[in-house]
Amino acid sequence: MTAPHFVDFEDVWLAYDDDLLARSQFAVEAIDLQVRQGEFIAIVGPSGCGKSTFMKLATGLKRPSRGRIRIDGESVTGPLKISGMAFQAPSLLPWRTTVDNVLLPLEIVEPHRSRFRQRRAEYEQRARDLLRKVGLGGYEDKFPWQLSGGMQQRASICRALVHEPKMLLLDEPFGALDAFTREELWCILRDLWTEQRFNVILVTHDLRESVFLADTVYVMSRSPGRFVVRREIDLPRPRDLEVTYTKGFSDIVHELRGHIGALRGQPAGAAA
Ligand code: ADP
Repeated sequence: MTAPHFVDFEDVWLAYDDDLLARSQFAVEAIDLQVRQGEFIAIVGPSGCGKSTFMKLATGLKRPSRGRIRIDGESVTGPLKISGMAFQAPSLLPWRTTVDNVLLPLEIVEPHRSRFRQRRAEYEQRARDLLRKVGLGGYEDKFPWQLSGGMQQRASICRALVHEPKMLLLDEPFGALDAFTREELWCILRDLWTEQRFNVILVTHDLRESVFLADTVYVMSRSPGRFVVRREIDLPRPRDLEVTYTKGFSDIVHELRGHIGALRGQPAGAAA
């Protein structure tokens, strides 16, 4: 028997309220998605197409109006504990040091919460090890305002991973960073994922980012919010930044840009 899919959306539709449902106004519709264990997927599409809505469904913050969602073999019926999240704004608490920010989920999420006092030393070591891995050794005891934007975002990724989630959800995590810092963070994420093989769902506007990082890229359309293209990224791994200068890479980026341009009614050459 083949292993069940880690993420399994079966014909999922969501209207935000009963009134919208009665008028058949769905934010996302007919989403079918099957993701294997450990797979890295990226979702790209124009603003307002339903990417955040999809994330809310995948974390159990919203229940579908129709259809079924299973994650890690379980029906999703409420907020998931097996996932970690990071967003465009790092949102670190300014009065906590970097390591204390990273420890936050362990203070909040069970089963860690009830063990936190007893195991604090072990948890703190875990947070410090993660911070070192992402190049923040020496900054653990600094406050967020003493870190650059890129460093804060690294810390927020550590915070998303500290409770060792099976799934990492990233909503435009590198959108606010300059191009060099962004590429550094791609490599950090690639290395963490290669080592730990959690599932990743990355929402991004950056097509190069999606092609560099993901195993599979999905393109969403707006009104209705649907997955209209599924593109497997067959570039061999491990992938280095050098790959972004190859023809194979830019052909895929161009192809995706063409799909998005078509959705927006623009030719492939125009900016997506
Ligand atoms: P994206 O993240 O791709 O920008 P969203 O998921 O935020 O898109 O939005 C998808 C659609 O759902 C849009 O038409 C948006 O107006 C609608 N929408 C988003 N949030 C709500 C909400 N809380 N109530 C009603 N409609 C919403």
